[in-house]
Amino acid sequence: MPKNPSSESLVFAVDLGGTHLRVALVDDTGRILKQSKQETPKGDSAESIVAALVDAAQRWDSYKQAVVAVSIVVPGAVDSDKAVVLQAPNLPSLVNFALKAELEKRLGWPVFLENDANAAAVGEMWMGAARGCRDVVSVTLGTGVGGGVILDGKLWRGSHGSAGEIGHTTVDPFSGLKCKCGNTGCLELFASATAIVRMTRESLSSFPESSLISEELTAEKVYEAGSAGDELALAVFKRFGMYLGIGLANLINLIDPQIIVIAGGAVNGWDLFAEEMYRQVDERAFRTTAQQQVKIARAECGDNAGLLGAARLARNSL
Ligand SMILES: [Zn+2]
Repeated sequence: MPKNPSSESLVFAVDLGGTHLRVALVDDTGRILKQSKQETPKGDSAESIVAALVDAAQRWDSYKQAVVAVSIVVPGAVDSDKAVVLQAPNLPSLVNFALKAELEKRLGWPVFLENDANAAAVGEMWMGAARGCRDVVSVTLGTGVGGGVILDGKLWRGSHGSAGEIGHTTVDPFSGLKCKCGNTGCLELFASATAIVRMTRESLSSFPESSLISEELTAEKVYEAGSAGDELALAVFKRFGMYLGIGLANLINLIDPQIIVIAGGAVNGWDLFAEEMYRQVDERAFRTTAQQQVKIARAECGDNAGLLGAARLARNSL
């Protein structure tokens, strides 16, 4: 590592979400020098997204000489070798678009592309809860459930680029609940922000005293009600923790990681779901592994995990 890297070698990191476009300049010690956030351009053309990225990069013109790469993460399946988006329900215009060629032409820097949950795992290993670990699984509990797997220090993308789809592992095949992936009983049907709202709605009639009956439901409101002792909310988070624990026990038995990092908005409910999550892990994972070695921890990088992971991955590839 160079001695004075900060101003000399920067990655222009991009977290291209369906709602927000976040960009940052990250140095090779993981420091974020500049950062900004805007709405992702809507519409059918990838050109508007490319234009927004070029604009964002040019805003930091004075750092231009120091930038060594552009590294983009997206919520979807990617071919990271070719830097092509294969599938992204929230960014349809980017699918099979020649993003790499277009941006390299316009910006002049090498372009890298990664799935956002994979990048988040790398970000947490570099700068967050999994620092110093080599076998890491990250699980992001957001609108859906994403996952990233790092084995022996290397991101494991799988043979077809879809490793780490923890949200679509089956935890209850007989629930009758259909997932948007086509399967039934996926983890994300029970352990996502969307699931919190649905499970609350399903149980309203059994809890006529609940303060949530008169609310327009959001995961945040269910969490607030649970923190205030609302029994419906507590039952929902217990159920959430149960299914999450089942999913994590399966992961532990399969991968035997040093640490599982839990991220995403729904992690706010940690105090309400953790006890049941640990109970399931203790019951279901191999005892020696689960109880003595695998750490389950909250993420530390917050919204920046993807940006940091993007920066790190680009450096590794240069
Ligand atoms: Zn699914």
